[in-house]
Parts: sequence; C-alpha cells; structure tokens
Amino acid sequence: MTPPLLPRKHLFDLPEGILYLDGNSLGVLPKGCAERAAHVIGQEWGKELIKAWNTADWISLPERVGSRIAALIGAPAGSVATGDTLSIKVYQALASALKMRPDRRVILSDTGNFPTDLYMASGLIETIGKDYQLKVIAPETVADAIDESVAAVMLTQVDYRTGRMHDMAALTARAHQAGAVMIWDLAHSAGAVPVELTASKAEFAVGCSYKYLNGGPGAPAFIYVRPDIVTEAQPALAGWMGHDAPFAMELGYRPALSTERFRVGTPPIVQLSILDQALNAFEGVTMADIRAASITLSQRFVAEVEAACPALVLASPRDPEGRGSQVSFAFEHGYAAIQALIDHGVIGDFRAPNIMRFGFTPLYLDEEDVVKAAAIVARVINERLYDNDQYRRVSRVT
Ligand SMILES: *Cc1c(COP(=O)(O)O)cnc(C)c1O
Repeated sequence: MTPPLLPRKHLFDLPEGILYLDGNSLGVLPKGCAERAAHVIGQEWGKELIKAWNTADWISLPERVGSRIAALIGAPAGSVATGDTLSIKVYQALASALKMRPDRRVILSDTGNFPTDLYMASGLIETIGKDYQLKVIAPETVADAIDESVAAVMLTQVDYRTGRMHDMAALTARAHQAGAVMIWDLAHSAGAVPVELTASKAEFAVGCSYKYLNGGPGAPAFIYVRPDIVTEAQPALAGWMGHDAPFAMELGYRPALSTERFRVGTPPIVQLSILDQALNAFEGVTMADIRAASITLSQRFVAEVEAACPALVLASPRDPEGRGSQVSFAFEHGYAAIQALIDHGVIGDFRAPNIMRFGFTPLYLDEEDVVKAAAIVARVINERLYDNDQYRRVSRVT
C-alpha cells in the first residue's frame, strides 16, 4: 500500500505540544529554511559579497520563485513577479487597472475584503483624484453591482474572517461582460485551494507568501499579470528593478516586457531564499490533493466542535465548497477564548469583533490533530476556562 501523500509533517519543524491551526495567518517553519538562510548569509553574502548577485544567481531568484508560485495558482511560468508586500502589489494592480479604463471612475470591492486592500484603494484615489470612487458593498451583491461605471473589480477570493469563497470564474466573467478589469487577491487562496488563474482570464492577481506558502514573517508578496496585457499594464511604481535593462542605467524609465516590470527595488534575497526552500513542501502533491484533505479536516473539526460546544456559532459557509481552508466560529468571548486556547496548546486566532478563526493546513495537520484540537476547544468553552482576566488583556497583535 502506498502511504498517503498528506500530511507531510516530516518536512516541517513543528513545535512539540502545539496544535497549530493558524497557518492561514503565518505558516509554520519548513525544514531546511533556517539552513538555507544561514547559507545565504554566511556563505553567499559573507564570502561572495557582491559577486553573489551573479555567482549565486541572486539576480534571477525573484523570477524563479515567481514561477514556482505560478505553478500553484494555475498560471504559466514567467507570469508572476515577487517582492515588496501585498499592500504594495494591491496598489500597483489597481493603479494599472485604472489606467487601462481611463473613462471609468469606480473601484468596486466588498466588505469581506481585508482592510489594507481598501486602504490602499482609498490612498490611491487620494493621490490621483479626478473623482474616482471606491464602492464597498456586501459580498453577495457584487455580481449585480458590476456595471459599466466600474473600472476595476478588486476582490479577495477567500474572506479572511469567515472563509467564504467567491466564485472566481463567474465573477471574472461578469466583470469582463461589463468591461471592467478584474483583480483577485489570493492571500488566503495561494497554497490553500486550487486556483485556475489562466482559465479565469482575470487581468491581475496578487497575494502574500507567509500564510499557506510558509515563507515566514515578512516574506515577499507576488503579482500575476495576464501575459497578453502585460505590455499595456503600467506598473505605477516605476523602480529600476522593473526596468527592461536595469544595469544600462538609462535616465528614462522603460518597463520590462514581462511581469517583471512590476518589480520595484532590490529584492529581499534572504526572505526569497527561505520562500524558495519552503515551496519544496509542495513538490509532488497537487492542489487538488491538498483541497481534498483540507475539506476532510475542516468538516471533521466543524462536526466535533458543533457536537460539543453549542455556544459557538459557525460563521463560515456550511458547505465546504463555499469556503477556503479555514473555519470560523462567532462567540461573544472570542478574544479571551482564543487566548485560553493558546495557553492550552491550540493556536488559532481572533478577528474583531467576535470571530474565532481556525486554519487547516493539510501539509502538516492530520485528522487526529483536528479531533484533539476540537476536544480542547470544547473544554475551554464548556468549562469557561476563558473566563479569567489574564485572557482579556488585549495584545497589540491579535
Ligand atoms: C494578509 C493579507 C494582507 C496583508 O498585506 P501585507 O501588505 O502583506 O501586510 C493583505 N490583503 C489580504 C486580503 C490579506 O489576507
């Protein structure tokens, strides 16, 4: 009998005694990342110094890592650039999209979007003025609200709070029908659910790599641009690393003829090296395998928690096809309950106002972990272990 593909716990440094259901926020440390970082710092930087841009091929690392991410989101090699943070990539995608529809003035998004995406849109509008407007509506009403005033539809596929997942193909088709440019934020999709970017025909997609891709805190973001529009897309932040020939040192900006034009400045080589190593954990497993395992895990968790804890109300779609790789429960004392859970060895997280959020990462979680975690949730809730001042003190990061 062949062993099951998942989980692959041996590829990760999992701390003893912790059930980690927060890989949707910060993925765990894959094995080999610390060694890779030490090598890049000690050998490449330490010994090779500036020569390493060529000798260790640092210069092509952003592109190589981009193509590995592309493979996980249904996009062709060369269509994904890496670097900066997701907030920056959102800004670039939006600015490009608005330029592509000069007669239109509306950016359409929804209340399920992550705040920074909305803030970046507002900030961009402040800068360019010209009566642009950001419309933020309820997620269920998006399809009907896309009309011919909309320049760009900017949506996060998986809602960070509830896990509710938009239908990427259908909404992209709807946006295109109305002549709008489609931008998908894949922060909670990349490495979590199968994404078919090419098939969706969306113009832009952006995401981060420290959640399900396990690239570590501050890992670089990514941006996909549909290959046939890349030379039409103005990257907005015209940095030298996005120039067609950075080392020609020309006085005028001339963007690269590929997605690389969306790069801005010098790439974060240590973080990119860590991410490159982290992506090895996805070798030999398909996103369909990961999705199937994720559904098994989340369904089991929901069943166990609902059976044992009537006080928790499911805040995610009940149909697993309608949600990403996380499950949330609403609970009045959610913040304190999450702190108590962490103290009892189950790490999830809290999102205001009352959401207890649990992420499922089949690369390093199995069904037994999920059953154990649900039993601890039941104890913390039913025995009111959260009812303690120490758990009500709010930290800067929740
Ligand atoms: C996590 C997340 C971000 C974070 O942006 P950073 O610039 O990486 O801090 C942005 N948007 C969405 C939808 C997210 O889920």
